[in-house]
Parts: sequence; structure tokens; C-alpha cells
Amino acid sequence: MKILQVASEAVPFCKTGGLADVVGALSQRMGMDGHDVCLFLPKYRCVESGLITGGMARPVTFTLGGETVTVHLRYAQWKSVSVYLVDHPESFDRSELYGAGGKDYPDNARRFILFCRAVLEGVKVLGFRPEVIHLHDWQAALVAPFLKRLYSDTPGLGGASTMLTIHNLAYQGVFPAEAFGLTGLPQSDFTPELMEYYGNFGFLKAGLTHADVVTTVSPTYAREIQSAERGFGLEGILAGRTDTLFGVLNGVDYDLWDPQHDHYLPKRYSANSFVQGKAACKAELQRRCGLEPDPEVPLIGVVSRLDRQKGLDLAASALKDRTGRAQIVILGVGDAELAGLLAGFAGKHPKEVFFKPEFDEPLAHLVYAGADIFLMPSRFEPCGLGQMIAMRYGAVPVASSTGGLADTVFEEEVPASPGGRGGRAANGFLAAPEDGEDLGRAIDRALAAYSARDSWRARALAGMESDCSWDRSASIYEDLYQRSRRLAASSSK
Ligand code: ADP
Repeated sequence: MKILQVASEAVPFCKTGGLADVVGALSQRMGMDGHDVCLFLPKYRCVESGLITGGMARPVTFTLGGETVTVHLRYAQWKSVSVYLVDHPESFDRSELYGAGGKDYPDNARRFILFCRAVLEGVKVLGFRPEVIHLHDWQAALVAPFLKRLYSDTPGLGGASTMLTIHNLAYQGVFPAEAFGLTGLPQSDFTPELMEYYGNFGFLKAGLTHADVVTTVSPTYAREIQSAERGFGLEGILAGRTDTLFGVLNGVDYDLWDPQHDHYLPKRYSANSFVQGKAACKAELQRRCGLEPDPEVPLIGVVSRLDRQKGLDLAASALKDRTGRAQIVILGVGDAELAGLLAGFAGKHPKEVFFKPEFDEPLAHLVYAGADIFLMPSRFEPCGLGQMIAMRYGAVPVASSTGGLADTVFEEEVPASPGGRGGRAANGFLAAPEDGEDLGRAIDRALAAYSARDSWRARALAGMESDCSWDRSASIYEDLYQRSRRLAASSSK
């Protein structure tokens, strides 16, 4: 199949969170499985110039709100994927991807309308003829209505089907209604049924009402977003398309996340050598974080965006009475208020708690490898990669029972049925979401279990052996791509 992937971030070009991991790994996996994959991204300042190997000499020109816009396409071959980076310095040559100093860039609507138009114009010029266009989140969502409304007669492009994946419904790209004027779409489309979101212009909504298939990143989250509590105002639209809405768990890229081959670790290890390997990584983590070099004390790790979603305020209050029983390492960047709270917590307990408010890839690897317990107390969590990476590294997750966390972390063992199907081992500890006291109790159960070393080892090994690879989900995506093609073909008849 010829597959066009469109996203605002992907590893190894640009990353602020799990979206980048997923887009990079899924594109790669589809390429390795023999599909012809083309990935479009914005060319931000942070994209390493060494990755770019060429580009199209001919610029791509189109109009946006009556103005002529010219962009260049830069090219990178990333293993099995052809990557095109939309180069428009005025929009993307900035210090951050979406905003600076805790504030979104004021022209984000224009930046991503421009990006979506540039993708379709660029594909036209390149002559790539996608059969399926896979869009990720609000930044890419407008490609769906643009394709249906503005490019339906374009040879080689008009017949493509579209799939939109929601990585986090909390981010919808909602902008003042005036931004609609930049799209070139007919004003008659600006209705509550299609693109208007309570008087504003909703990019994700516009994608949801035009994509042939919609997916999100775990089965539980697919159910949750159809309820008023988690639907952020889009529950009606989502519940109205249950036959074309699917939850597909993300995988972890085991080429990047594998304690056996991880060059960031002082000692690499497998399930067989996990005790010695983790001990060496824990010692190094304690050294780097200025914590007591104690092999016995349980070490709790956190690697997370700092956002209310992630529940780290609940974690800080649950942990403050437990500092004498564990060491705590928190790596996270984002919300200034949360950063202040965590800095205050670490400041009060300098011997037991370390907080680094930065994005630090090497340290993240060491936290997964050196921690005994990985804390992920999210209020909601579409899928979550942190808990799956942690399990791969033998750190036992303590997580809230929501979204993808509920689909991947299990506190109780479920024996297999007599036919040998459906069993699963206990691999973590679960707390009710948004409940600090229950989180405290789950942490207590984990700390108590840590001292019973044999059963602890069994739980950690169950995590290391859980299949969180893309093998689990790649074939589901392939089936859904085919389904989107059938749906697009039948709707164009
Ligand atoms: P989200 O996408 O909501 O941020 P996920 O758990 O799906 O959460 O993915 C988070 C990804 O970002 C993981 O790969 C995690 O290791 C990484 N990450 C988060 N914060 C940091 C940080 N401060 N430094 C390095 N990596 C980070």
C-alpha cells in the first residue's frame, strides 16, 4: 500500500511527547512490512541538519487567505521511510514546536493550516499517489476536509482514504472563527455539524467529521471519549460513529527502547541478567541524582510531561508522607506551577527526592533502567508509553486505572482459560484515577511487595516479558487502512 503519514512530530526529527515515538515507530514499521511510506513533518529549528539529505529544487506555491505562500520541501531518508519536511521559516524556524514561555504561539492556526495545505500541494508536486492518508492529531486533521473539499478531483490524490488518530482529545486545536477564512473552504462548512466548535473553529472536529476512519490509542480510551466526562464536547460526534471508531494500543519501538542494547546505560541487561543490570543502573542513577548509594531502598521513578493530566500533584502529596521509605527521581518539563510544586518537594527532601525540570533523553533511559517502581498517576491517559517502556526495563508501574494504563497494567493475575487463551500475569499496581488516597495505598502495596524479593522479581519479569511491541498492533492498522479504503470507495460512489 502507498501510505502517507502526516504529523507535527516524529522521532528522530522532533519530539515533545509520545506522539513523536508513535508516529516514528509506526511509519517505520509499515515501511519494514513492505509498504511505500511517505511522512510529512514541519521543518522546525530543532530538526538536526545532518538528517536532511536533499530536497526538491522546485518550491511549492499556493494561496492562503488570499496571500501567496511559498514553501520548500526538504528530504530525509529515515530507514524505510521517505520523509518530507515542510520548510517555511516564518512558521517553523522557532525555538519550540507549539509555543514558548508556557504560551501557545499566537499564529498556531495559520501555521498548521499552512502545513496541511503544504502537505497536499507537496504530494501533488512530488507525484506520490497515496492510497491511504494517516493523520495524527489536530495539527494534521485539516488534511481530511481539504482533501474532500478542495482536492477531490486531483488525479492520484482525490481517491485516497483518510484515517485520523486521536492521540489526546484534550488537545483539539480550537481557534477563533476568523481563522476559518484562511482555509479556502466554503463558508457553508462552518456549521456545528462539521467544523464549528461552540462558535470557534475546531481543527480536530473538522478532521473527525471528514475522516473515513477514526482511531485512538487504546480500547479503553476509545470507550471513555464517548462519554461526557472524557469527550471534551466531542462525545456526541464520537458516539455517532462507533462503527468507524477504533481503539488500537500503541507499541513501543524496541529498536530504541531495549535494555539489552541501550547505549545510555552503564550496564546493559536482559530478563536473564536483570538483577545485576538493574543494580548497576540504579547505582548510577543514584550517583547522578546525588542520592544515597543504597542498593536496598526502593527507587521510584517518574518521566513525564508536567501537565495536570499526569496527576503529579496527586503523586507529590501521596509521596510526601512516604519519603523515608523510598528514593524518588522525577524528570519532567512543562507547566510552571507544577514544576514549582515539585521543586519545592525536592527542596524539602534533598536526600530522598531529586527533580530535574528538563527534557533529557539520556537521563530518561537511566530512570527507566534504574528505577524499581515507575509512577504514572494520570487523571486520564489515552495510551501512555511511559508504563510500557518502564515494564520493558523491569521497573514495575504504579498507575491509575484509566485509558491505556488500564489496558496494559494489571495488578491481579488472570489465569488462562482451559484452551490456553486470555491469561495475563500481574505486572504492576493500580489506583483509582484522581484519587490521591487510593494512589497512596497503591504505592504502599508496591513498597510492601518490593521487600518480598521473589514475588517482586516475578512481577518485574512479567512486565519485561509483556508484548508491548508494534507486532501487536501493526496488523490491526493494516486492516484498518484497508477498511478506510473500502469506506472511501463506497462513499465516492
Ligand atoms: P505523553 O505523550 O502524554 O507525553 P507518553 O507516556 O505517551 O506521554 O509518552 C511520553 C514520552 O516522552 C516517553 O517516551 C517519555 O520517555 C518521554 N518524555 C517525557 N518527558 C520527558 C523528559 N522530561 N525527558 C525525556 N523524555 C521525556
